[in-house]
Amino acid sequence: MARTRGDDLASALEVSERRRQESQRLSGVGFWELNHQLETLYWSEEIFAIYEIEPDLNPPSYELFLSLIYEDDLDWVHRAYQAAVNQRREYNIRCRVKAGAKAKWIEARGVTYYNDDGEPIRTIGTAQDVSEIVEAQQKIEDSVKEKEALIQEIRDRAEEAEQANSAKSNFLAAMSHDLRTPLGAIVGFSEMMQARVFGPLGDRRYDEYTNYIHSSGMLLVNLINDILDLSKIEAGKYDIDDEIIELKNLIGESITQNQVYVRTKNQTVRVHIADSLPNLRADKRAMLQILNNLVSNAVKFSSDGSEILVAARVDDNGQYLVSVSDEGVGISPEDQKTIAEPFTQFAAYHTRPNKGTGLGLYIVDRLMRLHNGTMEIQSEPMVGTTVTLLFPSERVV
Ligand code: ADP
Repeated sequence: MARTRGDDLASALEVSERRRQESQRLSGVGFWELNHQLETLYWSEEIFAIYEIEPDLNPPSYELFLSLIYEDDLDWVHRAYQAAVNQRREYNIRCRVKAGAKAKWIEARGVTYYNDDGEPIRTIGTAQDVSEIVEAQQKIEDSVKEKEALIQEIRDRAEEAEQANSAKSNFLAAMSHDLRTPLGAIVGFSEMMQARVFGPLGDRRYDEYTNYIHSSGMLLVNLINDILDLSKIEAGKYDIDDEIIELKNLIGESITQNQVYVRTKNQTVRVHIADSLPNLRADKRAMLQILNNLVSNAVKFSSDGSEILVAARVDDNGQYLVSVSDEGVGISPEDQKTIAEPFTQFAAYHTRPNKGTGLGLYIVDRLMRLHNGTMEIQSEPMVGTTVTLLFPSERVV
């Protein structure tokens, strides 16, 4: 039989329909059309597949569509659709639907056409299962929320720790202040007794006890001063007040303050600083405290008659280096690891008469950090120790 033009058209239509169905199946996008006059709804196969319902048993209708929507979403979906039709806008929503026993997220888009009187004739649109996308987005949102909650928790903890630390610092500051007053009396009166201001003490043993009272009082004063500095540093309240320092003078001052101990041990302190050495920009009080701690350690931990060297120079990188070296007992490599931690003291030292607080090097280290500098220790047991302070080149004047 000869093929007619009608046959060709029919087969072209068939091909086009097959292509449409194939592309919908592959993309997962279904097509729907609502006829407002006839109140009929058309669903393509893919829409039935999305809702997982049998096409033959369920003729599509707007009511069927609404019955598949989750109760919670029903109201706003209906309103969004009506609003789009009334306002002549495109309609684009995402909502949860019941598909068999499962819940799915679908994205529906649509556009309405109107007759000359402005009445809606038909709305056509697409529907797509976007569950995977929504779930992935949900996961990202959940993980963002989780991270935010974690960050908040860390912030809360840090704040709590800060408050606890500040309470500790305030307590230490208050306690130290209260302790200093009675200690002033202990140190002051024992000094008067040592000087026999009102005549002899009587028994020889009182001389010895007076010396003990005085040295113990001084130890406590030093401890309290160190604790006060420590609490200030830890509370972030130790402000560095930069000024230009002539280091040679400051070293001289520190040596003078340690002179009594140096003389008692018959030690020599040498200062090695070139006349051309530039000045240093630093906090004067902190610098004196640093030098005092290092010089007094060098005196304490080296034997009678030994030599102590205080030196300063600018190295090839422009860093300002200040070092205090002694020929003393030294520090073992193991002990060097923890030496800058608070209240660290090593066994050999406890046999020595003028005990310290174990806070000296920790304070030096922290004060150096406030100057953007560092503290380095080189030491060999029974040979000696060199503590070097390194200031960044910006501090060289
Ligand atoms: P303190 O001197 O008050 O004990 P430091 O923090 O200054 O506290 O020093 C901690 C410990 O490090 C000392 O007790 C001592 O054991 C050791 N140490 C510090 N400086 C020296 C040094 N120059 N030589 C040997 N040991 C030292």
